[in-house]
Amino acid sequence: MYEIKVTAKFAAAHNLRNYKGNCENVHGHNWKVEVTASFKQLKEGMAMDFRDLKRISDEVADELDHININELPYFKTENPTSENVARFFFERIKDQGVPVTKVSVSETDEYTASYTK
Ligand SMILES: [Zn+2]
Repeated sequence: MYEIKVTAKFAAAHNLRNYKGNCENVHGHNWKVEVTASFKQLKEGMAMDFRDLKRISDEVADELDHININELPYFKTENPTSENVARFFFERIKDQGVPVTKVSVSETDEYTASYTK
């Protein structure tokens, strides 16, 4: 298998529901998202144009940029944890026909959650 990975970034606020601690208060992060897509075969030596995967990933990141994530319909019911933000990206990018296999979301340099196929 071949894998390619791109990184997208956005700045957004969130607050965790049903959580006791300072993350229950609205706060912001500079989020980093790593999107991995996997391919069995190459075309002209390339799995997928990096720029295409980057553009699709950036479009999803733009949906979350400079908002309170809790206010998106998807996160009205889903807690806006890094895990669920990773699944949000995964599903959105998969809907574009990309063979995405992993999305990792980092709230900070030290905390990363992933959703994989
Ligand atoms: Zn947070």
